[in-house]
Amino acid sequence: MADAQCVCGRLRLTIRAPAQLVAVCHCLACQRRTGTTFSVNAFYAADGVEVLGIASEFIRVAESGRKVRMYFCPTCGSTVYWKPDADPAIVGVAVGALGNPNFPAPSLSVFEQYRHRWVTLAEEVERYPQGLIPEQ
Ligand SMILES: [Zn+2]
Ligand SMILES: [Zn+2]
Repeated sequence: MADAQCVCGRLRLTIRAPAQLVAVCHCLACQRRTGTTFSVNAFYAADGVEVLGIASEFIRVAESGRKVRMYFCPTCGSTVYWKPDADPAIVGVAVGALGNPNFPAPSLSVFEQYRHRWVTLAEEVERYPQGLIPEQ
Protein backbone atom coordinates (compact mmCIF):
# COMPACT_ATOMS: atom_id res chain seq x y z
CA MET A 1 0.00 0.00 0.00
CA ALA A 2 2.85 2.37 0.83
CA ASP A 3 6.57 2.23 1.46
CA ALA A 4 8.77 4.31 3.65
CA GLN A 5 12.54 4.57 3.65
CA CYS A 6 15.46 6.43 5.17
CA VAL A 7 17.43 8.84 3.01
CA CYS A 8 20.11 6.24 2.08
CA GLY A 9 17.53 3.47 1.45
CA ARG A 10 19.02 0.81 3.76
CA LEU A 11 16.08 0.95 6.19
CA ARG A 12 12.68 0.45 4.60
CA LEU A 13 9.13 -0.29 5.58
CA THR A 14 6.45 -2.04 3.60
CA ILE A 15 3.09 -0.84 4.83
CA ARG A 16 -0.02 -2.88 4.12
CA ALA A 17 -2.58 -0.96 6.13
CA PRO A 18 -4.20 2.45 5.89
CA ALA A 19 -2.96 5.21 8.19
CA GLN A 20 -5.24 5.44 11.22
CA LEU A 21 -4.20 8.95 12.11
CA VAL A 22 -1.88 11.65 10.77
CA ALA A 23 -0.66 14.15 13.36
CA VAL A 24 1.80 16.97 13.79
CA CYS A 25 3.93 17.17 16.94
CA HIS A 26 5.69 20.35 17.99
CA CYS A 27 7.38 18.94 21.12
CA LEU A 28 11.02 19.81 21.75
CA ALA A 29 12.10 16.17 21.43
CA CYS A 30 10.63 16.02 17.93
CA GLN A 31 12.22 19.36 17.07
CA ARG A 32 15.64 18.11 18.17
CA ARG A 33 15.24 14.63 16.68
CA THR A 34 14.22 15.91 13.26
CA GLY A 35 16.35 19.06 13.27
CA THR A 36 13.33 21.00 12.12
CA THR A 37 10.45 22.72 13.91
CA PHE A 38 7.84 19.93 14.05
CA SER A 39 7.32 16.28 13.14
CA VAL A 40 4.54 14.83 10.98
CA ASN A 41 3.57 11.33 11.99
CA ALA A 42 1.32 8.64 10.55
CA PHE A 43 0.06 5.86 12.82
CA TYR A 44 -0.55 2.34 11.56
CA ALA A 45 -1.60 -0.99 13.01
CA ALA A 46 1.72 -2.66 13.93
CA ASP A 47 0.80 -5.90 12.15
CA GLY A 48 0.44 -4.00 8.86
CA VAL A 49 4.04 -2.73 8.89
CA GLU A 50 7.03 -4.84 7.84
CA VAL A 51 10.57 -3.64 8.56
CA LEU A 52 13.33 -4.37 6.02
CA GLY A 53 16.92 -3.58 6.94
CA ILE A 54 18.71 -2.79 10.17
CA ALA A 55 17.52 -0.14 12.58
CA SER A 56 19.20 1.36 15.64
CA GLU A 57 16.96 2.00 18.63
CA PHE A 58 16.84 5.13 20.75
CA ILE A 59 14.58 4.97 23.80
CA ARG A 60 13.12 8.25 24.94
CA VAL A 61 11.07 8.71 28.08
CA ALA A 62 8.00 10.75 27.16
CA GLU A 63 6.48 13.41 29.42
CA SER A 64 3.96 10.76 30.52
CA GLY A 65 6.87 8.71 31.94
CA ARG A 66 6.35 5.95 29.35
CA LYS A 67 8.98 4.96 26.83
CA VAL A 68 8.90 5.68 23.13
CA ARG A 69 11.26 3.56 21.03
CA MET A 70 12.61 5.46 18.04
CA TYR A 71 14.14 3.48 15.15
CA PHE A 72 16.62 5.14 12.86
CA CYS A 73 19.03 4.11 10.14
CA PRO A 74 22.53 3.56 11.60
CA THR A 75 24.10 4.70 8.32
CA CYS A 76 22.26 7.93 7.49
CA GLY A 77 20.53 8.72 10.78
CA SER A 78 16.97 9.18 9.47
CA THR A 79 14.24 8.28 11.95
CA VAL A 80 11.83 6.09 9.99
CA TYR A 81 9.45 4.65 12.60
CA TRP A 82 8.78 4.35 16.31
CA LYS A 83 6.84 2.34 18.83
CA PRO A 84 5.15 3.76 21.92
CA ASP A 85 5.24 1.41 24.93
CA ALA A 86 1.83 2.89 25.82
CA ASP A 87 0.27 1.13 22.82
CA PRO A 88 2.22 -1.83 21.36
CA ALA A 89 -0.43 -2.35 18.63
CA ILE A 90 0.59 0.95 16.98
CA VAL A 91 3.61 1.98 14.90
CA GLY A 92 4.34 5.61 14.11
CA VAL A 93 5.95 6.37 10.75
CA ALA A 94 7.66 9.62 9.75
CA VAL A 95 5.45 11.03 6.97
CA GLY A 96 8.55 12.44 5.28
CA ALA A 97 9.94 8.89 4.95
CA LEU A 98 6.98 8.05 2.69
CA GLY A 99 8.14 10.56 0.08
CA ASN A 100 4.57 11.12 -1.10
CA PRO A 101 3.37 14.71 -1.54
CA ASN A 102 -0.20 13.39 -1.94
CA PHE A 103 -0.23 11.80 1.50
CA PRO A 104 -3.25 12.90 3.61
CA ALA A 105 -2.80 16.07 5.64
CA PRO A 106 -2.63 15.90 9.44
CA SER A 107 -5.92 16.09 11.33
CA LEU A 108 -4.47 16.96 14.71
CA SER A 109 -1.61 18.88 16.22
CA VAL A 110 -0.08 18.20 19.64
CA PHE A 111 2.30 20.09 21.93
CA GLU A 112 1.04 23.34 20.43
CA GLN A 113 2.66 25.12 23.38
CA TYR A 114 6.03 24.61 21.64
CA ARG A 115 4.82 25.48 18.13
CA HIS A 116 7.01 28.00 16.36
CA ARG A 117 4.76 31.00 15.91
CA TRP A 118 5.20 31.16 12.15
CA VAL A 119 3.98 27.57 11.68
CA THR A 120 0.34 27.65 10.61
CA LEU A 121 -1.93 24.70 9.90
CA ALA A 122 -5.33 24.42 8.25
CA GLU A 123 -8.26 25.73 10.28
CA GLU A 124 -9.87 22.28 10.71
CA VAL A 125 -6.82 20.72 12.44
CA GLU A 126 -7.58 19.78 16.08
CA ARG A 127 -5.07 21.40 18.43
CA TYR A 128 -3.83 20.32 21.83
CA PRO A 129 -1.41 22.32 24.01
CA GLN A 130 0.07 19.07 25.42
CA GLY A 131 0.50 15.53 24.14
CA LEU A 132 -1.92 12.69 23.60
CA ILE A 133 -1.52 8.92 23.85
CA PRO A 134 0.26 7.41 21.97
CA GLU A 135 3.19 9.73 22.42
CA GLN A 136 5.07 10.94 19.39
ZN1 LIG B 1 19.72 5.21 5.81
ZN1 LIG C 1 6.93 15.21 19.57
